[in-house]
Amino acid sequence: MMDTQLTIASMIKRTEQYFPKKEVISRTQNGVQLFTYKDTVGRMKRLGSALESLGVKKGDRVGTLAWNHHRHLEAYFAVPSMGAVLHTINFRLSKEHLIYIINHAENKILLIDEDLFPLIESIKDELKTVEAYVIMTDNERLPETSLQPVYSYEQLLDKADNTYEFTTKIDENDPAGICYTSGTTGKPKGVIYTHRGIYLHSMALGMTDTLALSEADVVLPVVPMFHVNAWGMPFAATWMGTTQVFPGPNMTPKIIAEMLEEYKVTFSAGVPTIWLGLLKELEEGTYNTSSLRALLCGGSAAPKGMIHMFESKYGIPFLHGYGMTETSPLVSVTRVKSYQSDLPVDERLELLSKQGLVVPGIEIKAVNENGEVKPDGKDMGELLIRGPWIADAYYKGDSNSDAFQNGWLHTGDVVTIDEEGIIKIVDRTKDLIKSGGEWISSVDLENALMAHESVFEAAVVSIPDPKWQERPVACIVLKDGAQHKVTKDEIMEYLRPQFAKWWLPDEVLFMDEIPKTSVGKFLKAKLREQVEKQLVI
Ligand code: ADP
Repeated sequence: MMDTQLTIASMIKRTEQYFPKKEVISRTQNGVQLFTYKDTVGRMKRLGSALESLGVKKGDRVGTLAWNHHRHLEAYFAVPSMGAVLHTINFRLSKEHLIYIINHAENKILLIDEDLFPLIESIKDELKTVEAYVIMTDNERLPETSLQPVYSYEQLLDKADNTYEFTTKIDENDPAGICYTSGTTGKPKGVIYTHRGIYLHSMALGMTDTLALSEADVVLPVVPMFHVNAWGMPFAATWMGTTQVFPGPNMTPKIIAEMLEEYKVTFSAGVPTIWLGLLKELEEGTYNTSSLRALLCGGSAAPKGMIHMFESKYGIPFLHGYGMTETSPLVSVTRVKSYQSDLPVDERLELLSKQGLVVPGIEIKAVNENGEVKPDGKDMGELLIRGPWIADAYYKGDSNSDAFQNGWLHTGDVVTIDEEGIIKIVDRTKDLIKSGGEWISSVDLENALMAHESVFEAAVVSIPDPKWQERPVACIVLKDGAQHKVTKDEIMEYLRPQFAKWWLPDEVLFMDEIPKTSVGKFLKAKLREQVEKQLVI
């Protein structure tokens, strides 16, 4: 067979040729703008030319600090297609981590949104490698800034060579992008994505039994474009000629609900916190969401109660995906197999709340001290993954080399695998609660708590215990209006029939909010500190 190169430039060549009329809809600071793919690919090429004129060469890192919008999409394709490496920076990281990752990735140019540049101004003296700043704004005039030298994105595009074509001298194994983990444990670690990895991952997103992304879809990525490349959706959707709707800066559940309705979105993706917010919005307002064929939820466990509400009340099918920065990210997705279509509601929900079946192209296994776990849905072990879009090292060989051993990525996620091959994440290794020598899954307890009608969110952490080593404590945020109605006793009565006695939390604490990471996951280390303070441990 021919050894043609799987590159990002070849993906947009197809978009340009076959889908010039299809559209990218983008909400920015100044309103909603519409571009055809003809415009979009033209702008991508001009961006490539502009970056070249700023001195960007093959292998250089170009960083973005941006919301989800058309300019960010343009950078997604222009930067790797000219041979450089796209570093999508999570602007919600602490300043210390921001400085660390920009220096560590040795970013040469930063493309920054108009509302985010003050953040970079405040750390500019610490940035060692940045040679120019480009502000992405709709306005003709650049805002006052101390960043130097500074350029306007639109002016650069206006001046750029419109006959520019992307280089064909790219090897599929060249780096195309870099993302950093969100650094919940220690320093963020860099993961390099190759052209080949992104190309194959995009193919996987199109498969019918994964996300089935197609030309006919209208997709709205709520998951930030700095969070594992918005789970790879902008790459796949552009390649397939799918209409894309970008929700832009400071989006709220209301904005999302309005855009879903107005643009007849068929597919959207985000973390559970986003969908909990949308659910509340749907309950309070009147929206027509009938165009949605599925919502993809990932990043942390999707609560069963939430899946049930979306499916039963709003008729919106739910897909639950699992992955991590190191895996591009898609590893598995929940799918009800053809012969399971008449499962009773409870069993179906149980299935949908698990992390699903590994996608074609990727291999998994789980291991514990006794070797490979039994596929019985009970035996627990650490999930190991390998495949063509799974990282095999951290950038610059950073710490935690334990993660890569004997050709497998060691995820740090503890799972069971059942006889159907369905993966269920029981916990992260560091969050498992060990009580009297036995494991308690915080995820199972959280799922049960979040199914309670008055509970908005719940997280379970361990506290030290002189007799049992560790004991679980439940932290609960009640739904608006539920205050004063729910007591610890009621919660305990509710959990009692569902769990063995020794799994039941020792304490139930009611809180206003649960601390979260920059990408909306429970920040268990911080929560544990708060709990220990509150219980005076
Ligand atoms: P970080 O590791 O810095 O939190 P990632 O976004 O890469 O950043 O997070 C990956 C982790 O998120 C996984 O290892 C897993 O623990 C968790 N995760 C991702 N998807 C799911 C899911 N569907 N259900 C439960 N946990 C998930």
